[in-house]
Amino acid sequence: MSISQLARTISDSATLKLNEEAQRLRDKGEPVIHLGIGEPKNKAPITAILSSAARLQTGEVKYVPTDGLPSLKRAIIRYTEENYGRLVAPANVIVSAGAKQSLFNLLFALVDPQDEVIVLAPYWVSYPEMIKLVRGVPVIVTPEDGSFQPTLAEVEGAISSSTKAIIVNSPNNPSGVVYTAEFVGGLVEMCEERGIYLIMDDIYQKLVFDGKFPVSAYAYTRRDIEDTHVIVVNGVSKLYGMTGFRIGWVIANRELVEVMTTIQSQTTSCPPAISQAAAEGALTGVQSVVENLRLNIQNNRDVLMHEMRSFTDVRLTKPDGTFYCLPDFRAYTRNSVELASFVLKKALVVTVPGKEFGMEGHLRLSYAGAVKDVTEGIKRLKWALDPCSPSEIYIGDRRLVRDWL
Ligand code: PLP
Repeated sequence: MSISQLARTISDSATLKLNEEAQRLRDKGEPVIHLGIGEPKNKAPITAILSSAARLQTGEVKYVPTDGLPSLKRAIIRYTEENYGRLVAPANVIVSAGAKQSLFNLLFALVDPQDEVIVLAPYWVSYPEMIKLVRGVPVIVTPEDGSFQPTLAEVEGAISSSTKAIIVNSPNNPSGVVYTAEFVGGLVEMCEERGIYLIMDDIYQKLVFDGKFPVSAYAYTRRDIEDTHVIVVNGVSKLYGMTGFRIGWVIANRELVEVMTTIQSQTTSCPPAISQAAAEGALTGVQSVVENLRLNIQNNRDVLMHEMRSFTDVRLTKPDGTFYCLPDFRAYTRNSVELASFVLKKALVVTVPGKEFGMEGHLRLSYAGAVKDVTEGIKRLKWALDPCSPSEIYIGDRRLVRDWL
């Protein structure tokens, strides 16, 4: 079959593939612990469900405006004002079927063939593949060993005459690191001076621990929304645990929103109306649901840090946000794909290889699930890898004795 050359170069999503593998094992009755999970375990907020159900009950589920329901856009504008201190107009907002589609449309609208887009490692798995899909060139900036935030000089060193944009995700998937205010401020300045777009992927914005709050890139630009090079991407997936509803959005200048709207009109027509109603219900409903989710995840993070403390030879940077961390397992092996496959086979623990995020020798662990899964998962990892841990373990009524990687 003559499949396009470009399509052949794109890797599938490692995280979605792992979800399917975990489900397959569970369906076979295997007691799998899923530390690869990329979504909070809570149910959608009741206000989201009621709002969506009310729309469904009318039976009027038709095409809606391509760039999003006006009432949802109003809710997003309010969210932007409250959380970023920026008042934007409806023409600055476009809603899509998940932040993933928002990012893809955005890159499609910005990138010409061979334009470069800078991505900071460790990075979300989809950025490089999306950049390749729009025929751009991902340029990866890797921080010095032991750090999860590159320096401004390292980013500056990667800029060329072909650089179109820099994608920044903080709090960061997969490391859980929140970039410093100096770094974000410096990036804004650097981008605006050079006419480069700064794409802020804020999807984990409110999932930050210990009273910290990530800085908004808008705080560092004096420019009007029509002139700034800062573009914000956000959505309801992680904030409210509404991954399945598939609603995300972009805040940008009018011209860019118009182009993205044209692209969306020719690809998906509009994001599903029922999901948009749900997103509106979540954004306008009681916000304590977000705080409850954040506190649960923070508690899981504390439990994880406690359990990992006795893991000999594993270096772990304490995550300040998201529901991920990225421990360094290089004392055992540099091959993270082999390591993830070993712990899945031996200990029935799903993890994501660091290689997928541009960090070999690491594994991404998620603590978004139940706290007992966090403790059991770490216990099994220690059993499988750490010679200082007991060599026997019971998984259900199965007695396992350690053998080596
Ligand atoms: N950006 C980052 C950093 C993510 O981790 C994810 C999902 O895992 C997304 C964007 C996409 O989110 P959505 O579910 O809204 O498409």
